[in-house]
Amino acid sequence: MQETVYGKPLVYLDNAATSQKPKAVLDGIVYAYEHLNANIHRGVHHLSQVATQEHEAARAKVAAFIGARSANEVVFTKGTTDSINTLAFSFGEYAVQEGDNIIVSALEHHSNIVPWQMLCQRKKAHLRVIPLKEDLSLNVEALEALMDEHTRIVSVAQVSNVLGVINPVKEIVEMAHSQGVPVCVDAAQSVPHMKVDVQELGCDFLVFSAHKMYGPTGIGVLYGKEEWLEKLPPAEGGGEMIEHVRWENTTYNTLPYKFEAGTPDFNCSYGLGKAIEYVQAIGMKKVEEHERNLIVETQEAMRQMNRSGCRLQIYAEEQEKAGVISFNVYNKEGVLIHPYDIGVLLDRQGVAIRTGHHCAEPLIDLLEVPGTIRVSFALYNEEGDIQAFVKALEKALAMLC
Ligand code: PMP
Repeated sequence: MQETVYGKPLVYLDNAATSQKPKAVLDGIVYAYEHLNANIHRGVHHLSQVATQEHEAARAKVAAFIGARSANEVVFTKGTTDSINTLAFSFGEYAVQEGDNIIVSALEHHSNIVPWQMLCQRKKAHLRVIPLKEDLSLNVEALEALMDEHTRIVSVAQVSNVLGVINPVKEIVEMAHSQGVPVCVDAAQSVPHMKVDVQELGCDFLVFSAHKMYGPTGIGVLYGKEEWLEKLPPAEGGGEMIEHVRWENTTYNTLPYKFEAGTPDFNCSYGLGKAIEYVQAIGMKKVEEHERNLIVETQEAMRQMNRSGCRLQIYAEEQEKAGVISFNVYNKEGVLIHPYDIGVLLDRQGVAIRTGHHCAEPLIDLLEVPGTIRVSFALYNEEGDIQAFVKALEKALAMLC
């Protein structure tokens, strides 16, 4: 990407919101529209059959990428939000009754709060929240006390989109499973940055969006263990998700189609397949290492800046992080400089970062600030991007402090 903004080369550090797309992915999407464009699973004609094969090949790539036992465990959705809404509805219909409870954590994205809240309202159930410790890590020990015989599911992010902290999901799964409680992992911010293996994690469900991991917008994944997906009812009705439709009774399709009502985005699934090939060719270990170095270097450079008279507060500074650094700036008098002001000054210098509540208002309330400034990385970011960010921030601080 060689965009300029305000006549300056764009330094894109807003990857947690969405990543840029590699040429292979863009070419793949164009190829799919040009050469594979027929509705899938329906046509006897050649093009429809090839399109179907490619769509299913993309599903198999996703399954292998996340270590699913079978492609039947991979449901295509519109994205993370759609995946959680689908699960919350379906799981809620199957398993949640009045007086039950559902557990999320204090650092969740609204997508992993509101669908569960809506379910709780529908079923007269209760939402319980795993608190954070002083150092902004998850207080996993508190989960033990939050769970009881009415707990139906725990749903947590693997990586916080605000703080970048990596939650001990495996430990959470073991804890929950010891009480017979299933776990859903919001992997929207982990899948782009680290190797995620559903069997290793042991989770029952896992959700993510393609657009944050170099793939197209409008497509995402709901992984579910086959034994769970078999039991759960479909969340939406329509074409494709049925076996037979009769006025008296409709029977449902096999997995994963039971959860895929209507025409899926078969051109974007091809693009998602290309995104997976792209990151696999580099290797997730390499991606992880590269991005960890970027985080360490950036945090180090920001610590040096404290000498300028302003105080930079980096959140969860001591925690191991993936992809994200969040911070705020206080001036010499100790007054918080509004994150938005910093965001605007960085933007004017061609540096794209994000400011605000990052769709995690309960966490921002906990931090007692109007928002944070978030720098987020992708595998294509380099040393030069850090230098540009640091230079732009120094200039902004010189003006505001
Ligand atoms: N969960 C987390 C942790 C996220 O970071 C995001 C996106 N910011 C979402 C869920 C929602 O993803 P989408 O908007 O792609 O559905």
